[in-house]
Amino acid sequence: GAKSDGRACWRLCVPNLSEQADLAARLRTDLREALERGEFVVHYQPQVALSTGHIAGVEALLRWNRPGVGLLRPGDFLQGANEAGLTDAIDRWVLQQACQDAADWHAMGLPRVRLGINLSPRILGSGQALDLVTETLAITGLEPTLLELELTEGDLVEDFEAAGEMLGSLRQLGVAIAIDDFGMGYSSLNYVKSFPVDRLKIDQSFVRDLETEGQDAAIVHAIIALGHSLGLSIVAEGVETVGQLSLLMNDGCDEIQGYYFSEPLPRGELEDILRREQVLAGPMPVEPL
Ligand code: C2E
Ligand code: MG
Ligand code: MG
Ligand code: MG
Repeated sequence: GAKSDGRACWRLCVPNLSEQADLAARLRTDLREALERGEFVVHYQPQVALSTGHIAGVEALLRWNRPGVGLLRPGDFLQGANEAGLTDAIDRWVLQQACQDAADWHAMGLPRVRLGINLSPRILGSGQALDLVTETLAITGLEPTLLELELTEGDLVEDFEAAGEMLGSLRQLGVAIAIDDFGMGYSSLNYVKSFPVDRLKIDQSFVRDLETEGQDAAIVHAIIALGHSLGLSIVAEGVETVGQLSLLMNDGCDEIQGYYFSEPLPRGELEDILRREQVLAGPMPVEPL
């Protein structure tokens, strides 16, 4: 690429195959060092309850502060991490870091908010999830009922029965289970039927054109009705506009997450918001920050 070899590269720069292999190898090497050097950070995105206007939860979202490059999102490096065999190590690190942060907020007297963590299906399938979560809760002191594990339904779960049992055990600890990106996979309804689930997170692709696409509006309406008839709580992801918000309110959606309220924030900035929430006497109107 332009950066690595210094050649001018106008408009479109498509690395050739050996360059691509070099870049991928470099990415894997950098990722291995990133964990040791403490270059990963967790950002937190608020989830706002529409009935109260208050923050009900936050989702932990991984970021990599890559030297000389900047802040990267998981889409830029998770596949590379997987190829480098680092997924487990990174997942453990995120779980530990985010649970510690949430336990600290509690100790600081900040409002109790749920912590959502994206659980990789590898951990779930490996049978290590229960021990890992139990251990992390014990070490950090986070209340189990404040933790929610997000399972992406697009992820391949090979053994449904084993996965269901694992999730059931986690739930017995008090941990909640959410299905992430709901509606995008092949198996949405099978997931809801097979797994003990507390919450559905409507995929942002259905929310994006909610105001203009009648089909998306119908799908969102149906997911909310389905979820509610199963006793599940519904979060809409990727809410960016007041128009989307009001349609979701009309449909009885429980919570929203998206840029309309807030982007994912570094820990310190989230704490500022939680501190502000603390001093508010009455319900806070849902307003962009
Ligand atoms: P996700 O769990 O569905 O997370 C929601 C994604 O939507 C996040 O992208 C978030 O930044 C983005 N988002 C939030 N609000 C809006 C909005 O209003 N509009 C739009 N267009 N996007 C919005 P992000 O942080 O890039 O994460 C992408 C995916 O990477 C996540 O999707 C999740 O599947 C995965 N991921 C993130 N953190 C972790 C982690 O710690 N471990 C694992 N295994 N996966 C992670
Ligand atoms: Mg998620
Ligand atoms: Mg999602
Ligand atoms: Mg996702």
